[in-house]
Amino acid sequence: MEKAKKEGTAPAVREGVSPPPAVNPEFLARHGRKKKRLFSADGYVEGILSGNNAILSEAITLIESNLPEHTAIAQEILAKCLPHSGKSVRIGITGIPGAGKSTFIETFGLHLTRSGKKLAVLAIDPSSQNSGGSILGDKTRMQKLGADSNAFIRPSPSAGTPGGVASRTRESILLCEAAGFDTVIVETVGVGQSETAVRSMVDFFLLLMLAGTGDELQGIKRGIMEMADVVAINKADGDNTAKAELAKHSLQNALNLFPVIRPGWHPRVLACSALEDRGIVDIIGAIGDFVKVTRKNGFFDEQRKAQDVIRMHDTIIEALKNSFYRNEKISEMKGFLEAQIREGKITSFKAASELLDVYFGRQKDC
Ligand code: GDP
Repeated sequence: MEKAKKEGTAPAVREGVSPPPAVNPEFLARHGRKKKRLFSADGYVEGILSGNNAILSEAITLIESNLPEHTAIAQEILAKCLPHSGKSVRIGITGIPGAGKSTFIETFGLHLTRSGKKLAVLAIDPSSQNSGGSILGDKTRMQKLGADSNAFIRPSPSAGTPGGVASRTRESILLCEAAGFDTVIVETVGVGQSETAVRSMVDFFLLLMLAGTGDELQGIKRGIMEMADVVAINKADGDNTAKAELAKHSLQNALNLFPVIRPGWHPRVLACSALEDRGIVDIIGAIGDFVKVTRKNGFFDEQRKAQDVIRMHDTIIEALKNSFYRNEKISEMKGFLEAQIREGKITSFKAASELLDVYFGRQKDC
């Protein structure tokens, strides 16, 4: 991306900020289409389809932008990329901080890229929301994979609601697929609501856990366990190897009691060491098995269609919400009603219905 910026081959786009023209428009008028296309949706689409990661990255920035002028071009890019999307295996990876997600993704990813596959990693960064710090801004994460020409790593701020994260990340997946990535990983930290959102946009969900914490389910809600197609007990190395094996067996027994949610697939528990590259190949194998089984029995496509339906509803909810809160009358009344709720002068239900009445232009009965 940096390289492209220096060369002026792609416009610089920041979230919420209009991109300044990277090249003098008069120069473009004189020198034809080649650079001009970079300002149009077609230019982005061409760049994405030709596998230009800098342009893909800029397009994702447009998708993440809240500015209406960015939304218009982002939607056009998306619509044009859509026919070229859908061909990857979409994998969600979650686990508490320290479980070894980035180490795992790097080791896992290098196996894929070495075998000629192209891998995109979209990492949702919730820390910018909670603590102001950004774990994903840490430059030491996935260094080798970051330098691999068959890999694309993209941290995305999760600013806003989990619904917002979902719609933007889903759209980013589609762009990555159009760019030719055959595996797309969506990474999230297993501490919040984002897992449910991520589960609804991937084909396969991997939960990374640690053994030897006393309680194997520590910090992980049963709901997240139920979402997992494979649970990997990471750091199964050194003194921890036996503990990991033990945890693997007790978790597999626990999972066997859960109802089968994805037809034909019983969630597997595997042990691995991301650091020492042990057991990773088995996990790649399990994902391959999952894809094979679910493609054969039709669940793979069925799940994607069901996810598309969810996406439609999410999009409607997000659009309605944006329209509601951008409404001038609502903005004027909102602060006053919030104060009234705090002072106990009005119930939140009543305040909400007053705002909704105004938004929908409903008359009050006298
Ligand atoms: P994340 O927060 O889930 O992304 O976890 P990281 O990948 O940053 O790993 C957290 C720490 O655990 C780092 O110090 C890693 O070197 C270490 N780690 C990750 N995987 C393994 C593993 O398989 N074995 C051991 N012993 N350490 C690991």
